[in-house]
Amino acid sequence: MTTGKHLIAAMVVLLVALNISRAEDPLLEITPEARRIHNAGMLFDGHNDLPWQISKLAGGSLDRIDITQRQPELHTDLPKLKESGLKAQFWSVYVSADTLDTQDSLLRTLEQISLVQQMVKQFPDHFEMAATAADVERIAASGKIASMMGVEGGHSIEGSLQTLQRFYDLGVRYMTLTHNRSLDWATSCTDEDSGKGLSPFGEEIVREMNRMGMLVDLSHVSVQTMHDALRVTAAPVIFSHSSARAICDHSRNVPDEILRKLPENGGVVLINFMSGFVVPTEELKANEKARGTWKTVVDHIEHVIKTAGIDHVGLGSDYDGVTTLPVGLEDVTTYPRITQELLNRSYTESEIHQILGGNVLRVLKQAERVAEILRSKDADKE
Ligand SMILES: [Zn+2]
Repeated sequence: MTTGKHLIAAMVVLLVALNISRAEDPLLEITPEARRIHNAGMLFDGHNDLPWQISKLAGGSLDRIDITQRQPELHTDLPKLKESGLKAQFWSVYVSADTLDTQDSLLRTLEQISLVQQMVKQFPDHFEMAATAADVERIAASGKIASMMGVEGGHSIEGSLQTLQRFYDLGVRYMTLTHNRSLDWATSCTDEDSGKGLSPFGEEIVREMNRMGMLVDLSHVSVQTMHDALRVTAAPVIFSHSSARAICDHSRNVPDEILRKLPENGGVVLINFMSGFVVPTEELKANEKARGTWKTVVDHIEHVIKTAGIDHVGLGSDYDGVTTLPVGLEDVTTYPRITQELLNRSYTESEIHQILGGNVLRVLKQAERVAEILRSKDADKE
């Protein structure tokens, strides 16, 4: 009897202690103010690999993986999206650069594009394809997720400007110039030492993208390719899913010399959440399994703000494209923690809205305007 009482007393103490630690754990708390700011903003993520996961796990068939149910192996499914506050998404239509060897880059990319179109068609209450920035605003206001596509790697066009145009016509609104393998017209970050960047044809591709209003994405490319693209482009660029190299010295991240060029270009770095791209270099050296937390990701946001300015940062989570994520950012339901942390660090509501997606939307609008101007100049020449 006495032992029982002691046991109960011990359990009460334990429960109280648990409760206290829970109340003090900012992970578990999103204040009503942060929730309101989060939901009032335009959360527009630059990179999500759900289509790739559906290909990998279910052979590209939405009948074989039910995204209307919570799928533990996915960072993204419909129930989780409902909690995310996500308003717009660039879905990645990625195929491996190894398709250069099998010579089916275009075919496989078209399959991924079809998969995104199918997903949007199958869940019309959740998604709608957006062709323009105005579409994004209209669709987001209707409570659905405005969906655009990004081709992750110039290998997908198989060296053809006509294919680039075809991708645009199918709804692709950015192209990452390379993935992790260099092309004959652009070098990748895996080839940093070559000193080479864009070839004359690579420059032509950038100009053609400007004319179409397709965003030039500089994630995955070498620093020289970044410099060359910034020299050639008439429109603001994006880094669809890259973080700050000054904090985490990885070739996939953006160095300060490039961040400092962004105010002139107008472009935006959309911060990648992956642990290996955000945990500070020294910490990773000491423990390669270090994951970082949601605060680590906000450190990257702040670094871009300090180096380039508040107009040049956003979010490109890379959900479903990465394995290890920081504590507190495990899937798409966790975006509100970024909002909470920005609020804790005294950012204003309008600044938070810029970071969540306002900046990337502005860049999309600017690229559309540049395309109109370039096309009207072309028309004048004729
Ligand atoms: Zn990537």
